[in-house]
Amino acid sequence: QDSRKYTGIVEDCCCDYETVDAINGAVLHPLLQGLVTTPFFRYFKVKLWCDCPFWPDDGMCKLRDCSVCECPENEFPESFRRPPLGLPADDLKCQEGKPEAAVDRTLDSKVFRGWIEVDNPWTNDDETDNDEMTYVNLLLNPERYTGYTGPSARRIWDAVYSENCPKYASGEICQEKKVLYKLISGLHSSISIHIAADYLLDETKNLWGANPDLMYDRVLQYPDRVRNLYFTFLFVLRAVTKAKDYLEQAEYDTGNPEEDLKAQSLMRQLLYSPKLQAACPVPFDEAKLWKGQSGPELKQQIQKQFRNISAIMDCVGCEKCRLWGKLQVLGLGTALKILFSVDGEYRHHQHLQLQRNEVIALVNLLNRLSESIKLVQEMSPTFEKTIGELSLQP
Ligand code: FAD
Repeated sequence: QDSRKYTGIVEDCCCDYETVDAINGAVLHPLLQGLVTTPFFRYFKVKLWCDCPFWPDDGMCKLRDCSVCECPENEFPESFRRPPLGLPADDLKCQEGKPEAAVDRTLDSKVFRGWIEVDNPWTNDDETDNDEMTYVNLLLNPERYTGYTGPSARRIWDAVYSENCPKYASGEICQEKKVLYKLISGLHSSISIHIAADYLLDETKNLWGANPDLMYDRVLQYPDRVRNLYFTFLFVLRAVTKAKDYLEQAEYDTGNPEEDLKAQSLMRQLLYSPKLQAACPVPFDEAKLWKGQSGPELKQQIQKQFRNISAIMDCVGCEKCRLWGKLQVLGLGTALKILFSVDGEYRHHQHLQLQRNEVIALVNLLNRLSESIKLVQEMSPTFEKTIGELSLQP
């Protein structure tokens, strides 16, 4: 008997739940897991010392795991690096706790043919290189439980939801069926799933593992949160496939030919997967959105709301949460830029242009969502069985 809880077409999308699970498990998840370990995709440029424009008092963190390890033993790809004049190479070594002397934070975006600095109208951050930017090895900083909770975390989520759903009040669920709301809710589900999947089970023994009850309490018991996760996944997947030409031709050059070829090859396999094209050729139909007379105005309004959400990420009071918050919001902003700018403002003068960091964020976000979909698929039957057993008890 099929005990699937989620069947039919994912709301506002073009593929059904079963297909998403199948294609994710067989094709997307393995390819993405490979992609994010390549040197090109594992370093993310980010400004972590952020001045929160909204609540300057924030900055609480309970666990050591809140902080980001920026010190991957001086292992950045050579072409990401441009030593500052006059500094011996040894001084570029990371020194934890000394941010000003940490990693080589300068970079030369021109080393990448085809990668240029262009503004993303959907995000708040100025991506231009400056001394505050640093590279973080994402593999050394997994998104997981950090102990960041309480009023500080709640304040961020409340602000994010009230930004895109003005009637939202703390504790209430936003009822507005808006794309932006669904994207944020889907991302929120994914973050919660990763917290539950990699949880500190016993602090004294430093024992980490899955916490299925937490996953159920925060996500699985709310069908809307699961649906929004699938929606967000298909939305981002559509953006990746829509930017196919660009992503195929981009140079994934880090000075390590073997690894760079691997990145290029995995990217091609992802973009041209025959299974994906047969099962779900257009994961989301953006052409249907924001049509009509008020369309351009609505798009601008949503763009402004999203930029504010991006700015709120500077107030996340836990470094590691801020890293993943900023990365994933940039990834969503990149998906929005691809889906809603390509035929719009770029049409007249040029084609789509993406920054290297945007591509890194987009692919890492898709990987996170893909992991979450897989975890939901794996965990759901457990709970259905448990619920089934409970209902049989007298
Ligand atoms: P929260 O997750 O804080 O949710 C607050 C309220 O939002 C809920 O009560 C509910 O009303 C609503 N809500 C919850 N989920 C959804 C959804 N999917 N859709 C719609 N509404 C929803 N903690 C970590 O341990 N590790 C991290 O890496 C991490 N990253 C974070 C990144 C960001 C950007 C933020 C803002 C927080 C992060 N946190 C992280 C904190 C974490 O998300 C929770 O806020 C914290 O664990 C407290 O959880 P909670 O049960 O109070 O509910």
